[in-house]
Amino acid sequence: MTAPDLETGIGRLRDLVAGASRVVPFTGAGISTECGIPDFRSPGGIWTKMQPISFDAFLASQEMRDESWRRRFAMQDQFGQAQPGRGHLALAALYRVGKVPRVVTQNIDNLHQASGIAPDDVVELHGNTTYATCLDCAARYELRWVRERFDASGGRAPECSSCGGYIKTATVSFGQAMPEAAMHRAQRLTLACDLFLAIGSSLVVWPAAGFPLMAKRNGAALVIINRESTELDQIADLVIREDIGTALAPFTAN
Ligand code: NAD
Ligand code: ZN
Repeated sequence: MTAPDLETGIGRLRDLVAGASRVVPFTGAGISTECGIPDFRSPGGIWTKMQPISFDAFLASQEMRDESWRRRFAMQDQFGQAQPGRGHLALAALYRVGKVPRVVTQNIDNLHQASGIAPDDVVELHGNTTYATCLDCAARYELRWVRERFDASGGRAPECSSCGGYIKTATVSFGQAMPEAAMHRAQRLTLACDLFLAIGSSLVVWPAAGFPLMAKRNGAALVIINRESTELDQIADLVIREDIGTALAPFTAN
């Protein structure tokens, strides 16, 4: 479908939200760009600057593990200081009034939790970069702990103090298995909703991009909010091709 102007789009979204009983927001990097965290695919996005490190590469060499942590700490200022944006706050408001039972996200920035959504109600498909885990025994490590050892050793990625396994941010890297429990929860939510909001995702990464399609096929209304067009725009009930913060700000107070 063609995207209406901003005001019309917001009005139609308001009607769809009012008429829905279970709204599932599905968010991507675009909801966090106004918080100072760049997305991957926009011009100037992270991928135009460096290739991601695959899971296999991380496992294969100490150099790649060191490099992976070096990059993570270089991004700490952006991630560590980021506060929820208008999109996060609008979804948190809809959550508080019971419209949104849970949020499904591809983001790893912890900003939905920071906006007031209970951690259990944020379904993270790609994990979380604000803490780390041991790949062997799943022990949790805070980034401060990793950084102290990284700095003290001249930039060497530390190992798990209980089992010696590799410690990695709790994110899903390319080539790493998707978290099964989160995928199942996302699927159940998608099939139980009557309104699905795809927000700030280019919808090209499979299997995440399959959820909007699944919702639509199951009879839910599909809304896509993204400033660039996506391949699913043609099957959406409403496309808002505008800035996310601007489109969602009116939903912060309701
Ligand atoms: P993407 O980079 O593929 O797509 C982001 C989309 O958001 C783009 O189409 C862009 O046009 C749009 N966008 C950006 N800012 C916007 C704004 N203010 N208003 C409206 N639209 C805006 O992101 P993706 O599809 O989510 O996939 C990339 C993967 O990389 C994610 O799954 C995630 O795991 C990871 N990632 C996460 C973060 C984060 O946690 N904040 C940031 C970068 C990448
Ligand atoms: Zn361990």
